[in-house]
Amino acid sequence: MTEPLRPGATIGILGGGQLGRMLSVASSRLGLKSHIYEPGNAPPAGQVADQVTTSPYEDTVALEAFANTVDVITFEFENIPAEALDTLEAIRPVMPNRAALATSQDRITEKDFLTGLGLACAPYANVEIADDLAKAVALVGAPAILKTRRFGYDGKGQTRLKTEADAQKAWEELGMTPSVLEGFVDFSHEVSVIGARSLSGEVVCFDPGENVHRDGILHTTTVPAKLTLSQQTDAAILTGKILNALDYVGVMGVELFVTPQGLLVNEIAPRVHNSGHWTQNGCVIDQFEQHVRAVAGWPLGDGQRHSNVVMTNLIGDEVNDVAELSKDASVGLHLYGKADAKPGRKMGHVNKITGSA
Ligand code: AMP
Repeated sequence: MTEPLRPGATIGILGGGQLGRMLSVASSRLGLKSHIYEPGNAPPAGQVADQVTTSPYEDTVALEAFANTVDVITFEFENIPAEALDTLEAIRPVMPNRAALATSQDRITEKDFLTGLGLACAPYANVEIADDLAKAVALVGAPAILKTRRFGYDGKGQTRLKTEADAQKAWEELGMTPSVLEGFVDFSHEVSVIGARSLSGEVVCFDPGENVHRDGILHTTTVPAKLTLSQQTDAAILTGKILNALDYVGVMGVELFVTPQGLLVNEIAPRVHNSGHWTQNGCVIDQFEQHVRAVAGWPLGDGQRHSNVVMTNLIGDEVNDVAELSKDASVGLHLYGKADAKPGRKMGHVNKITGSA
């Protein structure tokens, strides 16, 4: 794709959860159409998209039909099967690109890539098979965290080792699947940067947000984050380095640990990110519009923040607090249209404006 998409063009989005939904809304506000592809029934994004295909990623015929109705394809999650990508890429451009997906799908590939760029990560070692465990423990030490190389999210697929003696138990707990052993980082707090890169290579970052997790799930993101000016600059520079190295197009979330020795990269997400939801009420151009602009080949917004914000996720039946929350004129409500408020399910979020930037 070399020409910017024209109004009326269609963005294909793989995944129909809340991120796909908010990408659809952003597309619509820019005069673009959206077509959601989602294996699960009644996707939340389907309520706001122009078209929805509900079919598994193994359905080549459905994938081809989907690709033929859209101008560009993007995604809301990183675990898209390689064969599905082969099918889609043969018909339309997929952005962000395959290198970005492959890098973020596997924690070892990701850490090798990041350290190869000269960026700091927690000490890590590959645990492909049981025999690797002793060597990894000797290298990384304890305390440590064992994480599955693939398919981890919201703190799932990982377990902590207090001492080296816990290694075997941790390995069994994770299902003896290829994993990475990571040294436990004694960070003071966690921040993330939402960065974007355009088709022409322009890079823009939103201000870093400070993240607090509860039960492994993001609870709040606060901007501004507690960072010195030089840490803020470091965060933006390292994000730009990652985006450029991947020849990336779109929005990316970069999670960082803040330590006395500097910033360590925890992980990257090649998509719009929960910790970037504050931009919806803190910036003129939010992360969803920024992503749509990037994949449409349009110029990016400058990432400028006009307000201080605290974003809070509404998990499970916390969504019932909406009536009360809506009385506060400084709170922007964002609900995902999900029917069942199951425990642990992200049902919506609120952005509370806490001052001017
Ligand atoms: P992840 O799935 O890698 O994002 O990890 C989920 C959460 O676990 C992070 O947000 C941190 O709070 C914590 N965590 C992950 N890796 C480490 C580490 N190496 N040291 C300390 N805490 C960690």
